[in-house]
Amino acid sequence: METSESFLKKKFQEYYRKVKLGKPLEIEKREFGVGEFGKKITRRHLSFSSHAQFNQFLQTEAPFYVSYSNAYYQFPARTPMTAKKLLSSDLVYEFDADDISTNCKNQHDSWKCPKCQTEGKGEVKICPNCSNGTQQEQWFCSECLNATKEQMLKLIEIIENDFGFSEGLHINFSGNAGYHLHLDSEKIRMLSKEARIQILDYLTFHEMDFEQTQFLTTVDKMVYCPSLEKTKGQHRRLMVYLEKVISEKSVTDLASIGLVSVKKIKPFLENRLKIVEKLRQGTMLPLPGNFSDTQKFWQSLLTYAVEQNTLAIDRQTSVDLHKIIRVPDTLHGGTGFLAKSIPLPEFKKFNPFNDSIVFSEKPVKVFIKNAPQFSLGNQTFESMQNQKTELPEFAAIYLMARQKALLAEDFL
Ligand SMILES: [Zn+2]
Ligand SMILES: [Zn+2]
Repeated sequence: METSESFLKKKFQEYYRKVKLGKPLEIEKREFGVGEFGKKITRRHLSFSSHAQFNQFLQTEAPFYVSYSNAYYQFPARTPMTAKKLLSSDLVYEFDADDISTNCKNQHDSWKCPKCQTEGKGEVKICPNCSNGTQQEQWFCSECLNATKEQMLKLIEIIENDFGFSEGLHINFSGNAGYHLHLDSEKIRMLSKEARIQILDYLTFHEMDFEQTQFLTTVDKMVYCPSLEKTKGQHRRLMVYLEKVISEKSVTDLASIGLVSVKKIKPFLENRLKIVEKLRQGTMLPLPGNFSDTQKFWQSLLTYAVEQNTLAIDRQTSVDLHKIIRVPDTLHGGTGFLAKSIPLPEFKKFNPFNDSIVFSEKPVKVFIKNAPQFSLGNQTFESMQNQKTELPEFAAIYLMARQKALLAEDFL
């Protein structure tokens, strides 16, 4: 009898027989890992001498997940890790919708407390009733994936403008809820772990100690910041953002961000043009009344600017030289989507819920255990619970891979 798992495997196999991969670069120096149904990595320390051998493996085994090392090794299959002899490593940045808070999560995510059975909608990690850790049910939609894309676009801008890295940038969809950026130019490959940490700290404002960098200084009851002319890179981005906050936010928003009363801030904001003009020159104008309010206000605004401009990069992926990550253009066993490589000019209009679909529209009978409403391949599927139905193959594979549906024969 065909099970959901064997059905998926058969489909993955058909795909790998049809499409040959010409990636990754320098395949013979990479370590590979594969996973099974429901488990991302079950075997590591695999290596392939050529793309032909790798493709042969994919066709025979049709793994549910395929990962490879950012690192290049002399002996990629050897264990322990030190025996592999590290040669160099690509730099990889990973963004996941998981790490970015968006309103849509209140629609499609839910949680349940395993201890007291309380449940609800949204992203709640600690049970409000008994403080136990909750079990979370996560889904992803265009809104959270777009927020993830925005983060990636910001990163690329900084990487190109502040670091001058313009070659060897490759983006791919993760196959589930995020995007990966691989940088593989010669210049980058040789960066030490320390250098990678420094870059990451810069991107996430980790290096930003307000006192030490003297971003804000106080002299004779006046607060000063660097003038726009004199700042560059991330600090300039903060200054530009502060200007935007002052110019565009409402009085109530600015009172709440700046931790001061509306009454106090209202007269102050009457001449916003002047505040911005002074800010550009490096002077943060005082609020009426106590100087402590002025300090608190500007400090809070700066903290807010840092929060809003910090990239939600997965820290470990970028600094762990031995990490393995999804091979671009392989299938993701938790969705059936292709972890598709996306040429840089096409990234803005990439839609993962259409463009990463590789399976057909042929109807497949499934038993749906539990699924919220979702959109895929230009179609919207209604929320269903404990229901037998017919879905296009790509949607059936998506729900089966997510373990939210079973092949109908399986159930009968
Ligand atoms: Zn509870
Ligand atoms: Zn969403």
